[in-house]
Amino acid sequence: MMGGHKDRKHALLSASAAHRWLYCTPSARLEEQFPDKPSEAAAEGTLAHELAEAKVRNYFYPADFSKRKLTSFVKKMKENELWQDEMVEHTDAYLDYIKGTALALDSQPYVAIEREVDYGGYAPEGFGTADCIIVGDGCLHIIDFKYGKSPDGRVTAEGNPQLSLYALGAYEAYKILYPIERVKLAIVQPRLPDGISEWECTLKELLMFGEFVRKRAALASKGEGDFNPHAKTCRYCRARAQCRARSDRNVKQAFDLGELPPLITAEEAGRRLCAMEDVAKYQKDLQAWALSECLAGKDVPGWKAVEGRGSRDWADMDKAFKTLTDGGINEAILWEKKPLTLAQVEKVVGKKDFEAAVGSMVVWNPGKPALVKESDKRPAITNKVTAVDAFKEEK
Ligand code: SF4
Repeated sequence: MMGGHKDRKHALLSASAAHRWLYCTPSARLEEQFPDKPSEAAAEGTLAHELAEAKVRNYFYPADFSKRKLTSFVKKMKENELWQDEMVEHTDAYLDYIKGTALALDSQPYVAIEREVDYGGYAPEGFGTADCIIVGDGCLHIIDFKYGKSPDGRVTAEGNPQLSLYALGAYEAYKILYPIERVKLAIVQPRLPDGISEWECTLKELLMFGEFVRKRAALASKGEGDFNPHAKTCRYCRARAQCRARSDRNVKQAFDLGELPPLITAEEAGRRLCAMEDVAKYQKDLQAWALSECLAGKDVPGWKAVEGRGSRDWADMDKAFKTLTDGGINEAILWEKKPLTLAQVEKVVGKKDFEAAVGSMVVWNPGKPALVKESDKRPAITNKVTAVDAFKEEK
C-alpha cells in the first residue's frame, strides 16, 4: 500500500508544527481558524516523497512492491506536471542513506516505511507519519526525507521536535517487540549541499523530552499558555499575518528604541539586528494579508489595491516572427543562443555523470561577503591581514 501522501490528515498537535506549538502553545488553536493552503513547493515535495517511498518499498519488500510495479509507478508519476528528472537522483540519495543504515547493523533490522505513529500518550490525539523507521542493534532510527532546496529552510536533526515525536510514537509501538536503548534521528535533504543531518540520544533523553511535550501539549490543546513570537516559530504559522503577539513584538522591535545615543556601537548593532530579525518578514506577511483584504473589498485605512505594472507580450509569437522574417528581417537576429548555467547543466546531465565528465573543470568563485547569524555553520571571514598572509606576500 502506498502512503497517499497528499490526502493525509493532520492532527491539531501535528509533529510538523511541533517546533511552533511546543514553544508558542496558543498557536495550535489560533491556526485552526485559517485554512491550510498547500504551496507548489509542498506539492512538489509530496510527489518526491511518493517516489522515495516507492523506491524504499521496492528495496525492502520486493515481494509486495516488485520492480515491475515500481517501473509502472514511475512512468505514471512522470505524467504529473510537477515531475522533475532530478527527483530520481535525490530519492536515490535517500534510499542509499537508508540502505547504508540497515546494512551497517549486525542483526536483520525491522524496517517500517511511511508508518503512522501515535504519540497521543504525550500530546492529546497526536499522530503523524514517519518516512522510515528502522529498529536494530538496540537503536531506534527515525529517518526523514525533506525535498526543500532553500538553505534558509535547512532542518537539523539535533533535538528535532518533529522527528522526536515520531520517535516517541515508534518507541511506544515497538518497545514490547524490540529492545531499544538509543535513538538516532536523521534528516536527508538531498537538494542542499551537505544535506544529511544526524543526531543520537539515549532513550532516557527521549523520554525526558516526552515529559516536556506532555506539559506543553496540555496547554496547546486548550489554546493556553504564552505567545512566543520569534522568526523561526512564526515563519510558517497560519496566523502569522494577523497574530497580535507577533505584530506587537515587531512594532516594538522596529520603533521602541529606548535610549538614543548619537552613534550606536557594533555591539548595539548586533543586538538590534537580532531583535529585528523578524521585522522585515513580518512586514511582508502583513502586506500580503492587507492586499488580500483590499481585493476582497474590505477597508484597510491608508491603503488600497491597484493593478501592478503590466508588461507587453506577443499574442502569437510564431506569427509575429514569421511576419518579421517574411518582411526581410534575418531570423538569426531574433534569437539568442545562451548557455545553461552550471547548475542547470548539472541538473540535466545528472550529478554523477556531471562529476565524472566535467567535475575537474569546475572552479569555485567565492561569493560576496554576507552577514549571517553566529549560529551559521560557515566559518567566519575577515579582511584583516594575518601574520601568515603578510609573510606569504613578502616572500
Ligand atoms: S504568529 Fe507566532 S506568536 Fe503568533 S501564534 Fe503563530 S507562532 Fe505564535
